[in-house]
Amino acid sequence: LIKNPSEEQDPVDTANPPSADGSARFDAVVIGTGSGGKIAAVELAAGGLRVLAVESGRVGGECPYVSCVPAKSILLSARQGLSWQDAVKARDHVADDRDDTKAHQDLVDKGITVLRGRGQLLGSTDGELQVQVFAPNGSLSTVVARVVVLASGSEPVIPDIAGLAEAPTWTSDEALSTQELPRRLVIIGGGAVGCELGQAFAMLGSETSLVESAAYLLPGDERGVGELVADVLTSNGIAVHVDEEIEKIDGADEQGFVRVVLASGTSLLADRILVAGGRKPRTEDLGLAQVGAPDDAGAIEVDERCRVLDRHGEPIQGLFAVGDVTPQSDFTHSANYQARIVADHVSGNGQDADYSAIPRVVYIEPAVYCVGLTVDQAKKKGVRVITASFDVAETERATLLRNAAPPPGHRSVHGYLELIADADERRLVGAACVGPEADSWGSELALAIRARLPLELLTQHVRAFPTWSEAILPPLRSLLAQVDQDQT
Ligand SMILES: Cc1cc2nc3c(=O)[nH]c(=O)nc-3n(C[C@H](O)[C@H](O)[C@H](O)COP(=O)(O)OP(=O)(O)OC[C@H]3O[C@@H](n4cnc5c(N)ncnc54)[C@H](O)[C@@H]3O)c2cc1C
Repeated sequence: LIKNPSEEQDPVDTANPPSADGSARFDAVVIGTGSGGKIAAVELAAGGLRVLAVESGRVGGECPYVSCVPAKSILLSARQGLSWQDAVKARDHVADDRDDTKAHQDLVDKGITVLRGRGQLLGSTDGELQVQVFAPNGSLSTVVARVVVLASGSEPVIPDIAGLAEAPTWTSDEALSTQELPRRLVIIGGGAVGCELGQAFAMLGSETSLVESAAYLLPGDERGVGELVADVLTSNGIAVHVDEEIEKIDGADEQGFVRVVLASGTSLLADRILVAGGRKPRTEDLGLAQVGAPDDAGAIEVDERCRVLDRHGEPIQGLFAVGDVTPQSDFTHSANYQARIVADHVSGNGQDADYSAIPRVVYIEPAVYCVGLTVDQAKKKGVRVITASFDVAETERATLLRNAAPPPGHRSVHGYLELIADADERRLVGAACVGPEADSWGSELALAIRARLPLELLTQHVRAFPTWSEAILPPLRSLLAQVDQDQT
């Protein structure tokens, strides 16, 4: 998949004063140049530090080439009614044909030294961390720096299912790089990746089934969201199976279809299986034990400044982690946020990270935008929870959209909005939105949660007519009425 992995090796910047043992010295080394690592490197360099970025795959990581960007491209193309071939062309164009030359040059232009290879922590002495880099050509470099940022990302979890290893499988990387449109696609996992790729492949012509072991799709969010998404995907022609385990996968028949056998007895035929059952942090071989951090293949624990914690829960001097490799982040925007937290801390203007309003977005049509706590999470935290919901399809904007397609009233509009509030503090703690463009208008709710805005102020706030955000007022008024009723 990697188009440009073994390009000419950049030398380690020997202009930097070497350390006592002759290793090159930088102010900061960033291991991994994906969403988190790239921003960390850029921000640290902008702050005047001499930065080395080490990358074992593509500069830019997953997002531009095999995750966010191509997934959104293919979804948009499907919605525009493009053919599979045209959708693939558009996808590959926005993904720079998976060639990272431009991304590499962009870092170099910002004054960052880029070294191709696998970075690993070697140890620490006198307030400096040592990193060794194994280059693709077999050479080994050692560098020292007072700041090291681990940003090695995550990789798909492959479930233990009888017959899966012999079956024709894809991970999302392959599904978003392929030229092949499966005739029959079975997707394992009904999280964000499974739902997005399911909708895209179904709309582009694959007969698609989606199997999720939890009771509803998008199980990290509210049941109402998952159930509405299941209805939407069903209306796209996808066979949605929730609360289902896969028992085994039988070998291919004469037409090349394998049989995916569910515990309920149902069988699904597939010429391709997409494994989308979650991801795990990529921590293997990072050398965490060398600096006293736990090395148990779990996510790297960090504090509120993204400092890596040692086995006793104490921050390790100069060592940071950002992005999917930490438990707090599984999005590009949260990885970017953590990278800025690190750069600000290193520059002496640090602030603690606040994860109370990191949006969880699924870019299907209609879009899903969830933020803050779910009802269950809020209750577990001891919040006196009140909720109110509203059907987004009742807004004037929905009426306009319904009637915009011939014949009038033809287009259906799906929507759902649930607001979750702390009755004692009279403020929002969570929100779940489904609706056209919810990925944009939901943002107001993230700010309300993060800024702890009072329900009264949110209720008085004026939203333009006729926009989707008008859906927010009725449930807000309902929450306020519940709070006021409580007090009488
Ligand atoms: C299909 C799909 C769609 C998605 N869509 C969205 C979306 O729309 N919006 C969103 O916000 N998020 C989305 N995500 C999630 C998003 O892609 C990730 O959260 C994000 O890419 C994580 O960034 P990262 O910097 O942690 O890791 P990555 O982007 O994975 O970068 C890690 C980099 O580190 C390198 N590396 C690893 N180990 C080493 C080492 N030892 N030495 C040197 N280099 C190393 C890797 O080669 C890689 O380039 C999606 C994910 C998937 C799978």
